[in-house]
Amino acid sequence: MQNGLAGHRARKRFGQNFLHDEHWIERIARTIDPKPEDTIVEIGPGQAALTRKMIAGAGYATAVEIDRDLAAWLKETFPDTLTLIEADALKLDWTQVHPDARLRVVGNLPYNISSPLLFHLMTVADRVIDQHFMLQKEVVDRMVAAPGSKVYGRLSVMLQYRYRMQKMFDVPPGAFTPAPKVTSSIVRMIPKNRDEMPPVNWERFSEIVAAAFNQRRKTLRNALGKLLTEEQIKSVGVDPTLRAEALDVAAFVKLANIA
Ligand code: SAM
Repeated sequence: MQNGLAGHRARKRFGQNFLHDEHWIERIARTIDPKPEDTIVEIGPGQAALTRKMIAGAGYATAVEIDRDLAAWLKETFPDTLTLIEADALKLDWTQVHPDARLRVVGNLPYNISSPLLFHLMTVADRVIDQHFMLQKEVVDRMVAAPGSKVYGRLSVMLQYRYRMQKMFDVPPGAFTPAPKVTSSIVRMIPKNRDEMPPVNWERFSEIVAAAFNQRRKTLRNALGKLLTEEQIKSVGVDPTLRAEALDVAAFVKLANIA
């Protein structure tokens, strides 16, 4: 069997950097550890570097690919073991993807759309077992950052509200063709149970977190001035002279829940 689509030229607009190094492909696959009972959904299978491993472990996989040529090749190459959804993963209605199954979502994501895609996938977090993604190292560092860290910000707070996340390991540019300019990392995301998440109005939470970090050098009193008074901030036990980077997720939830 051919290893990839002969003559396919990597398309920049689709963020195509294909994994070619078997050592790293194997290490990523071992980290995901697909099992026969799993419903694996891969985003951006490309030339099937990871897809083959997912099929080998789970026996069967589903994949979402936007590139028409790659989608056709994938359908032809895996007629019985892969369900190929030719679509933009950002626009896909994920509630319709195996609606009765709990999903394991994987992907070496196109870096240009990784943040919006992570947010879009929250629509199905309730029935996701886990997500393993390759992303720019810098993005993964922001996702898993703790309060006080220089890179702790909106992405950290919003995603940490919904997921437990763990950076697994870095992958060097040389593992890909073409090689990206930056180092990549694998991140594991496990949706929290409902009882681990205090209820919050998502719109209000987003608004407050965005405002707090938009002016991250300012104190909360100033950065949130248009949304909350100093008295309101104090009323939930948060010091208004702190900056956003000092607050954990629970404190942002408290601010968002002020009536
Ligand atoms: N999984 C392959 C690998 O590891 O070698 C390819 C990874 S490449 C970084 C990203 C893949 O995502 C490409 O196959 C690209 O065509 C696909 N892609 C890009 N944007 C997409 C989108 N919006 N929806 C679905 N797939 C997309």
